[in-house]
Amino acid sequence: MNQRLKVDMIGCDGHGVCAELVPELIGLDEWGYPVISASPVPEHLAKHARKAVTLCPQLALRLEAGR
Ligand code: SF4
Repeated sequence: MNQRLKVDMIGCDGHGVCAELVPELIGLDEWGYPVISASPVPEHLAKHARKAVTLCPQLALRLEAGR
């Protein structure tokens, strides 16, 4: 099943930890807030994506199942 990264922009405070952990899927805007790829997380990046979710200090990042 495909998974996509989603961010709660209200909870996020722009630490940028996620973008360091999985730069292939998360960039930062000019204010340091994440810009997340709309594409499904490829299998070879799944471990990094899960780590980014776990280490987000605001618990603002999640993986959602989808098609
Ligand atoms: S690690 Fe969490 S709080 Fe920091 S930029 Fe990413 S989503 Fe936002």
